[in-house]
Parts: sequence; C-alpha cells; structure tokens
Amino acid sequence: MSELAIFGGPKAVTYVGTDKNDGSDMFKWPIITKEDEDAVLEVLRRGGMSGTDVTKEFEKEYCAWSGSKYALGTCNGTAALLAAMYGAGVGRGDEVICPSITYWASCTSALTLGATVVFADIDPVTLCLDPKKLEAKITNKTKAIMVVHYLSYPADMDEIMAIAKKHNVKVIEDVSHAQGGLYKGRKLGTIGDVAAASLMAGKSFAIGEAGILQTDNREIYERAIAFGTYERFTADATETEYLKPLVGLPLGGHKHRMHQLSSACGRVQLKYYDERCAEIRKAMNYFWDQLEGVPGIRAHRVDEKTGSNMAGWYAAHGLYIPEELEGLSVTRFCEALRAEGAPIGPGCNLALHTHGVYNTADVYNDGKPTRIAFADKDVREMDKDLEVSENIGKRVYNIPWFKKFDKEVIDQYVNAFKKVCANYKELLADDPGDPEKLGGYHFFNHSKKSK
Ligand SMILES: *Cc1c(COP(=O)(O)O)cnc(C)c1O
Repeated sequence: MSELAIFGGPKAVTYVGTDKNDGSDMFKWPIITKEDEDAVLEVLRRGGMSGTDVTKEFEKEYCAWSGSKYALGTCNGTAALLAAMYGAGVGRGDEVICPSITYWASCTSALTLGATVVFADIDPVTLCLDPKKLEAKITNKTKAIMVVHYLSYPADMDEIMAIAKKHNVKVIEDVSHAQGGLYKGRKLGTIGDVAAASLMAGKSFAIGEAGILQTDNREIYERAIAFGTYERFTADATETEYLKPLVGLPLGGHKHRMHQLSSACGRVQLKYYDERCAEIRKAMNYFWDQLEGVPGIRAHRVDEKTGSNMAGWYAAHGLYIPEELEGLSVTRFCEALRAEGAPIGPGCNLALHTHGVYNTADVYNDGKPTRIAFADKDVREMDKDLEVSENIGKRVYNIPWFKKFDKEVIDQYVNAFKKVCANYKELLADDPGDPEKLGGYHFFNHSKKSK
C-alpha cells in the first residue's frame, strides 16, 4: 500500500486545534485577551466610536514603534493607499508603477485620481517588484512607484530607491503584508517617501477594518489629512501654504476616519506585536529549515542574517519547482497535501493587468477605458512583458501560518510535505495538470463565520 494518504495511507497531520484566539491554537489569529476587550469596551461604553482621541494616541505609538514622524489612521488600508497616492502628488494623467501580482487595493484607486497604473513584473524568487524590469517602465509621466512587500517578503528597496532617485519619482510602500518587518535593519514603511498598510482582521497586524499611513514628509502628511479627514484639516494643524485657505472640507470628498474601536484594539495589539511576530518567525523558520534540500520546493523567505525578516509572515507561501518532480502540477501536489491533512492550495493573487478593470471598463463614462482616460498613451500596451506575473500561480502554494513554535505540531506538516515530495512519482499518473489561471483576484479568505 502507498504511504500517501491520497491512496489510503495514514495522514501525516493529526493536529486538532483549540479554535480559541487566546494563543492556545497553532493558527488562530489575532490573539485577543481581556486587555483588548477592556480597551474596546471603554470606547464603546462612553460613546467614543467616532472620535479621534484614541486614534491620535494610537498614531503616536505607531510612530514611536515604526520610526516615522507622522502617522494617520484610516478606515481601511485601501483608503490609506489612496491618501498616500494623493499625498505623493498623484493626479490626472500621472502614471503609478505597481507590480501586477498584488492585492487590487495596492493601486486600483489610482484610477479614481485620474491617474493610471503601469504594471511591472515581479521577481520569481522574491515575488516582489523586479528592479531589473522596473526602470524600463519609467516615463516622463511616472509620478510614483508602488512597492509591495508581497507575502511578507521585503522588496529590494536599495535598488528601487536608487532608480526612483535617479528619475525623481516618489516611492510608496504598501506594507499591508509586512507590518513591522525589516529590510537590512530598517523598518519597512520608513524607507520610501510614504507608506500605507491595511490593519484589517485577516492581516498580521489585525485590529479590525482599519488602515494607517506613515511618512516623514510634512506636506505628504497634510495632503493625506486634507484628502479624507476633514475634521483634522484645520488652520492650527496645517503648515502647507497652499492648503491653508482650504481647511475645513475634505479635498477628496472622502471620509476616511478610523473607527476608534479599532484604534483602541490597535493600542493593545501594538504592545505585544513584535513579541508575537518573533514567535511566528521562529516557527516558520523551523518549518523551512526542516524542508531544506527537499526537491520540488523552496522557501519564500529572506536570510535573517542580512538584517531583513519576514515580519509576521502574513499569507505564507512556498515556491514550487515542478521541473524537479518530472513536471507534476502544483494542483496535484496540493491535492496530495490536503489528503495528508494540510490545507494547502495552489496559486496566489492573479495578475491584475489581466482583469477587465484594467482593460475595458469605462467606470466614469469617459467614452474610453478608465485606465487610459487621462493617459497620453495606451499604457495597456506596456503589459506585454509580464511573463513571470502571468505564470507565477503554477509555481506557488500557501503553507501553514504557524503562530506558535511547537515543534511536534510543525513536524507533522513538515512530514506531509516530505512524504508528498518523496512519493511524487505515484502522483504523476492521475495528474489533471494545472488550469490556465491559478489563484484569485481576491485570493485570501479572511472571512470568519459567526458561530
Ligand atoms: C489587504 C490589502 C490592502 C487593502 O487593505 P484593506 O484594509 O482591506 O482596505 C492593500 N494592499 C494589500 C497588499 C493588501 O493585502
């Protein structure tokens, strides 16, 4: 009989969680204690949900922790990214360069500013923007580069900053996958001109529907405030001359204030975040150390000796090398892992440039596709060299996101991977192959059912 569970062998994974988010479960996240509950209830009971006092305290603490001069809490990460683009001066006809492999919110709201998105390809090992491909995408219309530290991996900031500096374009960091992570000893979110992050409940820094913008640049900060937080856009708080006569109403017509139940929770989460992430990294690094040298798979991680790290290892994925397993599809590989009791699926975010929003949609009745409504050229023609982005789904799969360093449990998952890789030949016969597209446009399942 085969060892593989898919053919009737014993399952490698027998772990049964507690399903509690008090830190006793291997996977449950975020960890919520009485301290979070008390902080949230205090705001709830005094009717402070729509105020700004707790949010301002949270911002101060976020600045102290991250090393940025200014922070602005928002209702979600999408709003923080839009404010960051507006803050950086993105407007009508401007181009924002963004990797095509990311969650849509990294760049899609550029279209609401009348700007357009130029996609650049990713590196197949880091899964982040490939600096070698980036420079060719810069034109006289480029206003900003949107860098995504994708699946917690810190993007190659030295190369990207050098290119941005040479061409005098702004760098915006999307830190939604990597809050608190390091690049060569520097905190992510403090390297570019401005950064934005989602803090929604599924992320590693998880405090509800919330987002945050951070920058050292006073003008960017004030523009971000002016855009969507009218009650803080006041004469007292505004130093930027051209904004002074406009105080009082939001320039973008948006209301992006952060909910104070989230900021209250955020203040508590922040206290324990680094410690909890360190535990996650210990567990995840142990997992990959055990799998070092196994044919067909590679870790998607940085070497911590360089001073970089994988933050809270949000949306942990692994790289797949089908050539080492006689072309076994990642689809079949994942089926076998699921049979072993490990909930593994193929793919990651689908390439954004393949979606209709970036091709045919005329969202604002301009009589032409929104993506080129204010552009001086058809930027869709610049999507032709995005081969890595178009094919990466067949070379990645999610892995378990361990929250605790429990060797015994992690070893069960390690054994599942080892078993499937060692017995791959048995899987070749019934391999259905991979579908054309693997993954999804909104790929990560963050919804938690109510009981
Ligand atoms: C989650 C996410 C966002 C959007 O944040 P929301 O809080 O959901 O609005 C933006 N960028 C990336 C990379 C994300 O993963």
